[in-house]
Amino acid sequence: PSLDSLTKAEAETLAKQLRPQLRAWGEAYYSEDAPTVEDSVYDQKYAQLVAIETKYPDLITPDSPTQNVGGNVSTDFSKVTHDIPMLSLGDVFSKEELADFVNHITENEAGTYNCELKIDGLAISLRYVDGKLVQGSTRGNGQIGEDITANLKTIPSIPTQLSRPLTIEVRGECYMPKASFIELNKKRDAEGKSVFANPRNAAAGSLRQLNTKITAERKLSTFMYNVADYEPLNTRTQSGLIDELAELGFTTNPNYRVAHNMDEVNAYIDEYTQQRDDLSYGIDGIVVKVNSLPVQRSMGATVKVPRWAIAYKFPPEEAATIVHDIEWTV
Ligand code: NAD
Repeated sequence: PSLDSLTKAEAETLAKQLRPQLRAWGEAYYSEDAPTVEDSVYDQKYAQLVAIETKYPDLITPDSPTQNVGGNVSTDFSKVTHDIPMLSLGDVFSKEELADFVNHITENEAGTYNCELKIDGLAISLRYVDGKLVQGSTRGNGQIGEDITANLKTIPSIPTQLSRPLTIEVRGECYMPKASFIELNKKRDAEGKSVFANPRNAAAGSLRQLNTKITAERKLSTFMYNVADYEPLNTRTQSGLIDELAELGFTTNPNYRVAHNMDEVNAYIDEYTQQRDDLSYGIDGIVVKVNSLPVQRSMGATVKVPRWAIAYKFPPEEAATIVHDIEWTV
């Protein structure tokens, strides 16, 4: 069966079942850092809701998980307003879907792409005034994040002073290296505590701590890859942005590559699908971005995702559940 086998009324009933289910899973994942289902299960149900809402746009509700950046804001921390929202990423699960996305952009906005690894951590934002770190926050719900400045200051890869006195907001990923993750879970297991499901949840749980000392012990690291506004930078490309962030003192991921066409994008995917296990940090896919920053700006974003980037997600690891048949019944 497929979505076409459902009437519109049945599709609406299914959407009404999917939304609270996804919201409950999202709550466990984002607020408790303790997912109750595997990502592949969440992703399939989410894709199902997207399919229904794409076919019947009038069924979209503003509170749908498809219309909101996941994650909420704990009252344990002060709130930080993101003047420029922190977005999620659209995702695809096959090279064919990725080619559709890339070709659609190529038709409208000729240019090159920057391929980057999709680091399995959580998004953070760092504000610098005259080159000095003044505030660090989580993505939260995209509009409002949590002030975790003190915790972020314990992470050695985050500079408190830039090499130039820029006033700039830099964004990227905070992650827990694989070795630290294994060590942490071993220790927690020995102490009879619950273990973290994956490095991303471990990183999120470690960053959102009231006791800064705990964060400091967790051996977190960062890769920065974005800015809220590129005006203060000299470069006007995504690949140049990564280089300039490195010059400013940030740790950036060196494994990015400019691609000129889909063949080059596919070669990049193949290479990192192979090398994935050898990396010292987790990746759950690759991100393809339009390389020109002015074109990125002109393409803009939906309420949830930028139009100039997409994530290609790796197939779930062997241990994870593979849901072969999507249920299109209500
Ligand atoms: P996402 O994590 O799939 O993608 C967006 C994020 O990718 C960005 O916010 C950024 O933090 C990150 N990222 C890493 N490297 C990047 C790079 N080079 N460039 C740009 N961004 C990069 O999206 P999301 O909305 O944060 O979360 C959805 C994911 O969370 C899904 O994979 C889903 O499976 C999982 N999830 C799972 C459950 C569950 O119950 N298991 C519940 C909710 C969400």
